[in-house]
Amino acid sequence: METRHRIAVITSGGDAPGMNAALRSVVRGALSRQAEVVGFYTGYDGLINDDSVKLGVHSVSGIINRGGTILHTARSADFLTEPGRAKAYQVLEKHQCTGLIILGGDGSFRGARDLSHEYKFPVIGVPTTIDNDVGGTDYTIGFDTAVNNAILCIDKIRDTAESHERVFVVEVMGRNRGFIAMEAALAGGAEGILVPEIKPDLPALAERLIKGHRRGKTSSIVVVSEGAGGADMSARPGEDELPRSPSVSISYHVADVIAGLTGLEVRVCVLGHIQRGGPPTAFDRSLASRLGAAAVDHLLAGTHDVMVGRQMGKIVITSLDESLKESQALDKKVLDLVERLGR
Ligand code: ADP
Repeated sequence: METRHRIAVITSGGDAPGMNAALRSVVRGALSRQAEVVGFYTGYDGLINDDSVKLGVHSVSGIINRGGTILHTARSADFLTEPGRAKAYQVLEKHQCTGLIILGGDGSFRGARDLSHEYKFPVIGVPTTIDNDVGGTDYTIGFDTAVNNAILCIDKIRDTAESHERVFVVEVMGRNRGFIAMEAALAGGAEGILVPEIKPDLPALAERLIKGHRRGKTSSIVVVSEGAGGADMSARPGEDELPRSPSVSISYHVADVIAGLTGLEVRVCVLGHIQRGGPPTAFDRSLASRLGAAAVDHLLAGTHDVMVGRQMGKIVITSLDESLKESQALDKKVLDLVERLGR
């Protein structure tokens, strides 16, 4: 007799708009293939604590357009430990689950890989993170929505910046990677951009802003990733850094330096969690719908230890090991383009 599949699913790590759409796709994709689905709340914690819900066809009604995740998500300290993962495995066995689909980012995929290596339990990852920093896919679910949320804010900031002839430093999310900043700066018509991957040159940025101002620009927007610059944010080589407190956003430091070097009026706007909320864009919903069902299909076909992604328009799988080695590099040419077009 054929084994009846029962798929466990979690949403894990940072929330991302489109997680619900991906969950709907996993559930409906599985049910359409006669597999059952059990959801666990709050990521790996829900697995460890056996906090589950049977997901039927109506359990995912009306969620394709909702941000966040109805399963809730968490960062699980327990799952980082071997006993924590052993507990999670026991719970999966207790529910007679035949595989686990993880909707999460690279951290969640690391956990999935550990579980799979230690217990030979079949796992498949679906990349959901606003940061776009997962190897094996051109886009992660949630990234497009975050960029769209950011440019809607930038458009509004531009109105007030123009009226008062100000420079605005707009901080977007991205502790380690500058993808959101890059796309938001390009699509928002920003004059400057600072990302974690590139050493900042604030004097050069200030000079460009002054030149633009002299040419008659009435406002300037500088998009800054929250992790831009690291510790290296001094205004000039050899000049003392302004104090940087971990609890104070780097953008205030950038604004102080730019104001000092240009004499222009500079304001800061930290967009923060606004970028993660709200309805997912059509792009994210459609990506989520494709990838969720693809994860189910691969699991049922006996493929595991992989993540599903989309590369050059095609749905592809990449081993978790490969995906975790390296994510795509930031295209420096696009950063140059931002500066060329924002003159
Ligand atoms: P994201 O999935 O969005 O990158 P995190 O990096 O916070 O989010 O990871 C989510 C969860 O995945 C963590 O709280 C932890 O439980 C698990 N995890 C992350 N890294 C590992 C690891 N190296 N080994 C085992 N579990 C991990």
